[in-house]
Parts: sequence; structure tokens; C-alpha cells
Amino acid sequence: MMKKALAVSVALLVAAPVFAEELVVYSSRSDNLLRPVVEAYQKKTGVSVKLVNDKAGPLMEKLRAEGSNSPADVLITVDGGNLWQATQMDLLRPINSATLNKNIPANLRDPKNQWFGLSVRARTIFYNTNKVKPSELSTYADLADPKWKGRLCLRTSNSVYNQSLVGTMIANQGQVATARIVKGWVNNLAVAPFPNDTAMMEAIAAGRCDVGIGNTYYYGRLMDKKPNLPVGIFFADQQGRGTHVNVSGAGVAKYSKKAAQAQKFIEWLSGSEAQNLFADLNHEYPANPTITPDPKVAKWGKFKQDLVNVSVAGSNQQKAVMLMKRAGYK
Ligand code: FE
Repeated sequence: MMKKALAVSVALLVAAPVFAEELVVYSSRSDNLLRPVVEAYQKKTGVSVKLVNDKAGPLMEKLRAEGSNSPADVLITVDGGNLWQATQMDLLRPINSATLNKNIPANLRDPKNQWFGLSVRARTIFYNTNKVKPSELSTYADLADPKWKGRLCLRTSNSVYNQSLVGTMIANQGQVATARIVKGWVNNLAVAPFPNDTAMMEAIAAGRCDVGIGNTYYYGRLMDKKPNLPVGIFFADQQGRGTHVNVSGAGVAKYSKKAAQAQKFIEWLSGSEAQNLFADLNHEYPANPTITPDPKVAKWGKFKQDLVNVSVAGSNQQKAVMLMKRAGYK
């Protein structure tokens, strides 16, 4: 009898791996981008990571609604605008980590240490290589010049990415100058704004417009699929400050019961083992500047990052939305 019970329990142990600990990660990133990363962590540490996936908005609402009963330990989402929103909703707790402070540059993390950027994307200019020479391109503001009339494509203004770009422009140049630029963009539109960056880049390739503004990783994905498309990338400048960048990032959930473990996981994500895994699958740049980007991404060329803190994208979000609305940017 005893022997049989023992045999059964041994069989159970063999059948299902027993993890010492489990972390619950709420993530708005695609499962296929994050799965290999958490699997690597699991393998290395024995800590099991459960992914709960949803879009950023619903995920943060869920976290807020659950309050102190939330099982979440970590929140991972994209864009400084969303991450800032998470801090406003009081969903995160400050992380006091020498490792994260060392690995992640100051412009890519929350000034109050509630979240840290883990991968970087630039939002920059894309152009039809049959119609535009790179020497004709320079700044985001230049796309408002009448020489681009009927030649510009944009994504819709309800994209958080455009809100973040305009939010940082407001921080760098003020509302008056930014409003003038955004109005100029609207005047130069070739066709109505697109629902996503990929459709916009395909319109550039098809010759419906000559230039547009998009995120680097969408370009990477598109060129993977259709390497012969006549679309080039140009790193735009803003008043000598460089190209607008944004992040995907992570924070420890406010009511996590395993905050120390959650912090360790985020620290690991910022380090040499995880940074390429985290960035390369989505054609992004590692946030940790000591890690080299994937060769496919590196070949687009080096560029200067605008060092304005990405959380400005959030704090100026409402102003940006209003400004775009007033400019007639749909
Ligand atoms: Fe995206």
C-alpha cells in the first residue's frame, strides 16, 4: 500500500515539473516575442513565469480593478506613454536596483524608477527610394515644408506612438512650433492617415506617397518579408537633438507578493543574457547600451537618440492629443 502511494507520487513528480516559484507577468507584447525570453529565464532559474497577455489598455484596467488581490508580479508593455499611464494609475511600485540603474540609461526609465525600458525603437522617416534621395531628408519639421505637398503618409493620430512623438516635440520645441509642424504635415498628406505603420510603409512602397513616419521594427518585419520593396530608412533629427525613440519596458506590480523575485526577473531582462533575446525577435535595439543590436538592425546605420526622458511622452500626451485634433490630424 505504502509502496504504491510512493510510486504514484514519484510518477506525478516526473510527469509535471515542479517549480520552486511562479511569477505572473501581465504583458501587452505578442506572446511569440516574449515566450522564448521567459522560457530562457525558467530554464536558468527554475522560476516559472506565467504570461497573461492582453492589449495595454485592458491589461492596465484589469490590474487596477484587481487592486490588492491581483496575482500580477510584473507589468510589461510598450511605449513611454502607456508606461507613464501605469504610474498615473498607481499600478507600479518603485524599484531600487543598482543593476537596473547601471544597465538602463536615464532617458529610458521612469524618473521615479517605477519602470525601466528594456528595448528601444526609433520613430523616424521612411521614404520611397525611387523618388526621394536621402540628401533631401533632414528633420520631422521639414516634412511640414510645402515641398512635400501631396507626398506625405502618416499613421492616424490616435496611435500612442504618434502621441508620444508629438509629446516629445512639445517638450523640445514648445506647443506653438509643434502645432505649426503638425499643421504642415496635415497639409502635405497624400492620402488619409493609415491605421498602422505597416500599411503606411506599404503605401510608400506602392508610390502612393513618397515619405512617412514609422517605427523601425515595422520596417524590419516588412523588409524580412519583402526585401525588395523600394523603402529606405532615414534617421530624422529634431533641433539637433537626434531621433525620437521609445521603449518597451517593465515594472513591478504594486501589489506583487513576490516583489523581490519580480525585480530579479526585470534585472535579468536588462542584462547581457536576455537583452538580445528581448530585442532581436522584434527588430528592436537593446536598451542596455553595452549590448550590440542584431546585425539586421545594425545595418540601418548608427543614429543619435533624442535624450529627452521617454516619460515625457506620457506627461505631454493630453497636450499632444489636443494639438493634433486642433491641427485637423485625424
Ligand atoms: Fe507596435
